[in-house]
Amino acid sequence: MSGRTHAIVPAGLASLLFNADPLLTLTAALAGLAPDIDEPYSVMGQRFWFLSWWIKYLWGHRTISHSLLMVVMIGVAGLVVMIPFPVVCAICLGWGSHVLLDAASGGVMFWWPSKERWVLGRFPVYGVMDRALLVGGFLLFLVSFWIRVEHEVKTPIMPHVMGSATESGEWVSGEGRMMGRGREETWSEGGGNEHVVGRDVSGGKDQAS
Ligand SMILES: [Zn+2]
Repeated sequence: MSGRTHAIVPAGLASLLFNADPLLTLTAALAGLAPDIDEPYSVMGQRFWFLSWWIKYLWGHRTISHSLLMVVMIGVAGLVVMIPFPVVCAICLGWGSHVLLDAASGGVMFWWPSKERWVLGRFPVYGVMDRALLVGGFLLFLVSFWIRVEHEVKTPIMPHVMGSATESGEWVSGEGRMMGRGREETWSEGGGNEHVVGRDVSGGKDQAS
């Protein structure tokens, strides 16, 4: 498939899996482009041409970098060097989706070093299926982003900082912080005592009496 599809499909999947996390989404998109390092004219190959020509000369296109062995090796290496588990998952997701997409567009040497090609389909690059997958990946991304916004509008991101409203409509800060200045604010402390700040509610009458 085309480079844009290789990036957008895993980005959409990662976005849905990891609650639209931007770092993991970007990681999956880049990992989705990485296997074509074995093709000097690809997005990655053009940027790392010195490595790209070398890999293509040694093994050829859609071989070692498009194999199950490579996905497993990257996953194990990531865990060994203590890369956070979700990041390793995002890398393997991106890399694995690339292998699957290429298997559907002519085949890959999935079982490398075996020379046997695994062919899921022969959909042409930039063809109808390529475009459909591109749109599908983009829709996944939009859906995951919408789910995250919906969730965070209903649930404050940091309730211990933001505070929450009580049944009587008073605004209570979880850590007893004053949430603003110049207006009436109520918060609770450990003993349940309530304090009103922002204006003098006694109006000085207590002192006068
Ligand atoms: Zn490829």
